[in-house]
Amino acid sequence: MEKKKSFFIFTIFPQFFDCFKNVGIVSQAIKKGLVSVEAINLRDFTSDKHKTVDDVVYGGGPGMLLKPEPIFRAYDYLKEKGHNPYVLITEPWGRKFNQEFAKELSKKDEIVIICGRYEGVDERVKTIVDEEVSIGDFILSGGETAALVIMDAVIRLIPKVVGDENSLRADSFSDGLLGYPNYTRPSEFMGLKVPSVLTSGNHKLIEKWRRWESLKRTFLYRKDLLEKANLSDEDLIMLEAIKGGLTFDDYLKKRKEIKKRTKRKNF
Ligand code: SAH
Repeated sequence: MEKKKSFFIFTIFPQFFDCFKNVGIVSQAIKKGLVSVEAINLRDFTSDKHKTVDDVVYGGGPGMLLKPEPIFRAYDYLKEKGHNPYVLITEPWGRKFNQEFAKELSKKDEIVIICGRYEGVDERVKTIVDEEVSIGDFILSGGETAALVIMDAVIRLIPKVVGDENSLRADSFSDGLLGYPNYTRPSEFMGLKVPSVLTSGNHKLIEKWRRWESLKRTFLYRKDLLEKANLSDEDLIMLEAIKGGLTFDDYLKKRKEIKKRTKRKNF
């Protein structure tokens, strides 16, 4: 039995996570006991009667900051209960979140995500933080939406969460390439037909076509990913054909000829 993965979200808006926990893959994973998501309300860890979580910024300037005390107290509370979490804080300048980062996090047993609000958090909180994480070059009004994005991407990588693990392998970025196009029934809709190879029943050919389409999409949209992808000799032949503007059928017909002019690392 896999060890359960636990997320603890430090937030002043725990209600953000109610919907997330109750729908789709995440709710099923929680029910199966594969993952737990606990929103920890920082207000519960304040020490004054007004339950103050924020305060003004030293040195002046607009806006408020999250106080360090509730965050440290929430962290100590987890430690005292025997937890030993990997601690993330959401920050616009943090390490850029991507599929590789998600894979790394899917291997951690316990993760805390500290969600900033207002102008952010008191810098001293960084003494308990393992990594700062950003979901992109834009400013959100709080870390909660970033935490949702991070958890969603990580949870689906936990073994047994997604029913068919082949679907994970076919996802964009999983092998460094973008995904191939997919179709469902009907095979013809408003005159638009599904590519005939997909209804041919020839599984080897379908696999080849899907690889071709993945490579083509990556070449067209994200050439930078090709530099890092683990490409086979056949992939390079396909890329040579794609670069030359050939169709999949052309590639099948002229493969030998294309192979002769294919060099490694030529895209
Ligand atoms: N004053 C900060 C912005 C604060 S935004 C600055 O100058 O950059 C409020 C909070 O939202 C931040 O503390 C952070 O927790 C979260 N946040 C904003 N943008 C984010 C992003 N791109 N990725 C992750 N978290 C973000």
